[in-house]
Amino acid sequence: MYAEKFAALMKVAERPPQVFVSGSGSWLVDEQGRRYLDFVQGWAVNCLGHCPPELTQAINAQAQHLVNCSPAFFNEPAARLAQLLVANSCFDQVFFCNSGAEANEGAIKLARKWGAKQRGGAFEIITFDNAFHGRTLATMSASGKPQWNQLFEPKVAGFPKAPFGDLEAVARLIDARTAAVMLEPVQGEAGVIAAAPEFMQGLRALTRERGVLLIVDEIQTGMGRTGKLFGHEQSGIDPDIMTLGKGLGGGVPLAALLAREAACCFEPGDQGGTFNGNPLMTAAGAAVLEALLAPGFLEAVAHKGEYLRSRLAQLSARHGLGAVRGRGLLLALELGSDIGAALVERAFAQGLLLNAPRPNLLRFMPALNVSESEIDAMIELLGAAL
Ligand SMILES: *Cc1c(COP(=O)(O)O)cnc(C)c1O
Repeated sequence: MYAEKFAALMKVAERPPQVFVSGSGSWLVDEQGRRYLDFVQGWAVNCLGHCPPELTQAINAQAQHLVNCSPAFFNEPAARLAQLLVANSCFDQVFFCNSGAEANEGAIKLARKWGAKQRGGAFEIITFDNAFHGRTLATMSASGKPQWNQLFEPKVAGFPKAPFGDLEAVARLIDARTAAVMLEPVQGEAGVIAAAPEFMQGLRALTRERGVLLIVDEIQTGMGRTGKLFGHEQSGIDPDIMTLGKGLGGGVPLAALLAREAACCFEPGDQGGTFNGNPLMTAAGAAVLEALLAPGFLEAVAHKGEYLRSRLAQLSARHGLGAVRGRGLLLALELGSDIGAALVERAFAQGLLLNAPRPNLLRFMPALNVSESEIDAMIELLGAAL
């Protein structure tokens, strides 16, 4: 029985009894051989879908040569992926790690080190209401999730919050203790709320003028999700620090902290981790990034995002639901009432995986190479569930 088989796993989530055994592209298959159309993709992780050949081949090939040597030595795939990231962004150096939260911890440490050295001991990082930056103690403290206010007290100090989109509030919070401002270009967990380009540009100008760093958490918006390689490119700004995770490994645990030269102030001993930058994961990341950089790939993401948006808008009009929002292939549909969880459950029963980060909203994070006919199939299944 499944209940017995899984009893040894700590219960940190409500999970359905189905066990998934294989996947291909936009489809997952359970133990009974039932197929599910996957518009969650491990929370925007499998950016090329399930078991894409590029990724499987890169992992297989690397596993024949070297899985791990230790972060005390250089390895070739880590250098290749770092070079590719630097060549395709405004950043100069990269630190690899294993999860988004760990990348954000690195960003927080880098900003604090920079504040200690360059700004008279400044250590505060201004973050935003409803932000989500991860589940370690510091990243929970940086997050603005109201449900976490009383959890695991005491929190890590030094994360004053501003309302998302309120430039004046950020300006008022900046003082001698401020080292950085940190935000998601699209707040994902909060319900897919995109920062206006003017807000991003305003933050860039403000942080420059006041001499503090600007950090973008692109763990969800990076790696092509918004139709650009990185979400901040939508507003034409160059941040000082960026974090990546989720899609970077295409399904394997890989995350990264990137920074412009002026902010790269770690000294040996400041930052590290047993698995960081191991060749198996970075070879996977390099295969993913090469696929995203292929001519026409990102344009196709933007195009499919528009197609998904228009199909959702039609469905919304037919069923009297609310607005469609988001960027690229990170979209949300407002439901007008708190039917999100019930709808996710019903869609699941019909073979469609969806996510409701808020009770009144569905979020769509399909593979970036999802086809228009798969989008049509999703709309049909969702229509039936409605
Ligand atoms: C998922 C996510 C994180 C945390 O990443 P983990 O790999 O779960 O630690 C942090 N920030 C954002 C914006 C995310 O979407």
